[in-house]
Amino acid sequence: MASTLNGNTPGEDIWTPSSWRSKNIKQAVVYDSEAAALPALSKLETLPPIVTPTEINRLKNTLREVALGNAFLLQGGDCAELFSYCADEPIDAKIKLLLQMSLVLIWGSNKPVVRIARMAGQYAKPRSSPTEVVDGKEIPSFRGDILNGFDINARTVDPDRLVQAYFHSAATLNYVRAQLSSGIADLHNPMDWGLGHVKDEDLQSRYQRIVGSITESLKFMNTIGADTAGQLNSVDLYTSHEGLVLQYEEALTRRLRHPSNATKPTVSPDGKGWYNTSTHFIWIGDRTRQLDGAHIEYFRGIENPIGIKVGPSMENEELISLLNIVNPNKEVGKVTLITRYGEGKVEELLGGHIEAVKSSGHLVIWQCDPMHGNTRSTSTGVKTRHFSSILSELSSALKIHKQHGSYLGGMHLELTGDAVTECVGGSVALEEGDLSLNYTTFCDPRLNEKQALEMAFLVAEFYRA
Ligand code: PEP
Ligand code: MN
Repeated sequence: MASTLNGNTPGEDIWTPSSWRSKNIKQAVVYDSEAAALPALSKLETLPPIVTPTEINRLKNTLREVALGNAFLLQGGDCAELFSYCADEPIDAKIKLLLQMSLVLIWGSNKPVVRIARMAGQYAKPRSSPTEVVDGKEIPSFRGDILNGFDINARTVDPDRLVQAYFHSAATLNYVRAQLSSGIADLHNPMDWGLGHVKDEDLQSRYQRIVGSITESLKFMNTIGADTAGQLNSVDLYTSHEGLVLQYEEALTRRLRHPSNATKPTVSPDGKGWYNTSTHFIWIGDRTRQLDGAHIEYFRGIENPIGIKVGPSMENEELISLLNIVNPNKEVGKVTLITRYGEGKVEELLGGHIEAVKSSGHLVIWQCDPMHGNTRSTSTGVKTRHFSSILSELSSALKIHKQHGSYLGGMHLELTGDAVTECVGGSVALEEGDLSLNYTTFCDPRLNEKQALEMAFLVAEFYRA
């Protein structure tokens, strides 16, 4: 029998939040027994949405502007968020960092910046190997706090963690919302930009000039009373995570009424649609994006804006088939393509993907993830990334988009507001020998707060150039 694009036979195309279960799945989660996760999943099904359709559609509407070239998308956060990061200091530090980076990018791009944190739910990690050897013993790999624990005695997947994930996600987002409404992002207040570490005088004065210009603009708006709508008091900050554990995503996928700000809702007789209420924006990892696989099946049915990681193995045709499956109506800005080739491959691959998408009639957001194609191991086996490689992939992506008459609408970074030592380079001048000073990631190496802000300065200058 003929198959449709996603491997369904005609007539079997009906999507439900659980239709992914009949597909092949990568990175499968297998509990002790089929029944073991049922109490946790039933509990999740009774809990209220973490985010609402109104918020999801507000983000979707602003992402449409990014796709059209009128705004810029900044997305960042930990590779693996731990439940223990649900505490005031790390959350405050991340909000402040994303806010400062966004101000710099507004200055650079002369466009509004949409902020999405990899936070309040980024608890699941795809792994290249299901096991690893620790102290001569083969044990299951750490798959993120939603499934098992990093402690070597906690590596068995535990369904109770699904419920813990919900509560940590809700508590994190609750604190983010409370801080935003209490003025953590109040632009009337002076900010500490902490540029003292920049020893290169030329660089220091370039960064100071940018900060000066931002500070002057904010002061000016304050003085002339331009802030009549109170917009300087707070900003929007959305959440996102990789949609890897489909049991969890299914339990939080709800049939809800389209809100009045839904400009392009799926047309349905009941005026409702399927919303993933665990987060505003959800993405498919590079390891789980098979056309006929479970993840694509799940993603094709939800109303949320979605991301797709695009790595070097993506074929041009495959990319178009994928877009046709997840966005058959060619909704503008529904899909963000998060490209992550590596500095050595971006020149060879990005142009082809841009042209293929152009000819398909889809209008996507192009976002560069300059982290995941640039992971290296030091001679002593420590996973790191070079600041210069990250910058190089970003600058190549920007140049290639320009050459193809396309718009690089965003960047996707792994970062933390803490002073970690996981990536080398930048003005903090971290070297491989410094990595052990404060290497605390449980998965991929992140830019620390100084490196992340510096990346924003440099990208802002690219846009100005
Ligand atoms: C990630 O974003 O942490 C990740 C696993 O990315 P990718 O799917 O692109 O490898
Ligand atoms: Mn990662």
